[in-house]
Amino acid sequence: MSPRPYRLGRSLTGLGLFATRPIKKRSRIAEYRGRRLGIDAALKAEKSGNRYLYEVNSKITIDGARHGNIARYFNHSCNPNCDTFIRDRRVFIRTLRNIKPGEELTYDYGRDYLKNVIGLANCLCSRCRKRRKKHAAELRLKRLRRAKRLANAAAKGKVKKTAKKKTAKSARKKTAKRGSKR
Ligand SMILES: [Zn+2]
Repeated sequence: MSPRPYRLGRSLTGLGLFATRPIKKRSRIAEYRGRRLGIDAALKAEKSGNRYLYEVNSKITIDGARHGNIARYFNHSCNPNCDTFIRDRRVFIRTLRNIKPGEELTYDYGRDYLKNVIGLANCLCSRCRKRRKKHAAELRLKRLRRAKRLANAAAKGKVKKTAKKKTAKSARKKTAKRGSKR
């Protein structure tokens, strides 16, 4: 596993891990290390604001807050390039696809964490930022289209009147012609 193919660096949410060289899909790149807590100790840690708790199962939670645990720096993403898996009650992080140098390494912390700790509206992952940007752009476009529609309708209001006059005239002409034929 070492030397690590990534480094600690600045990310939008503080610190994050960034690939320093290409990493192949399905590579095991880290272990989520830390003290193993029982249920009571885990609850206590959670209440004291520890955000680096990884629930391995209903009985064991890893307290990954210590600095020796590099895996604590993986940020959350709703569209992650890594995920976690458990083997022999140990937690590992692996890549989900090929990674390019410079890419931030992320995994999905899960719906509960996103909802209760990050907040659905506060997620800064690339997918959520893109989604929000798109939504804002769509709103802008909608407003623009509405303004255009109103302007067009106002302009058409004038055009329609003149058009009506014309068609009325030509209609009269037609009937007049037909009338003369008979
Ligand atoms: Zn997100």
